[in-house]
Amino acid sequence: MTLDADCIFCKIIRSEIPCFKLHEDDRTLAFLDINPVHPGHALVVPKHHAADVFETPAEWLSATVETAQRVAQAVRATFDPPGLNLLQCNGPAAAQSVAHYHMHVIPRATDDGLTMNWALVPGDMDELARIAEQIRTNM
Ligand code: AMP
Ligand code: ZN
Repeated sequence: MTLDADCIFCKIIRSEIPCFKLHEDDRTLAFLDINPVHPGHALVVPKHHAADVFETPAEWLSATVETAQRVAQAVRATFDPPGLNLLQCNGPAAAQSVAHYHMHVIPRATDDGLTMNWALVPGDMDELARIAEQIRTNM
């Protein structure tokens, strides 16, 4: 486990600042987001400081997703929302504000106006094929 002295999530992991804890195990910590978009909005963080999906080793990503599933199940059991997003942001342009990899667990309400929803507009098949090929070369 590698933690950072100044990172707010590392401070929460070290219990230096408080949180509304939902779950803790040897690899992850889950707690409520302090600025919830809906009741039950939670965060899951690995106990390893790395900024984003590009820098976080795979085993920590896996642990985070496993805990996120568990938290999502608990949030569903608690609020029975009609929908729920697992959301993870990388970089300021993607609205990442804390540079410690984390997964949002966001229960949704119907027509709640959150802007991560988008209309289902079919893509151009040729363009999709081209983009898939481009991405595969980077996998
Ligand atoms: P992101 O914008 O994806 O980096 O998400 C960071 C999230 O961390 C935001 O939704 C903040 O509300 C949340 N956050 C920041 N500080 C705290 C804190 N001390 N306790 C709980 N949540 C926090
Ligand atoms: Zn950190």
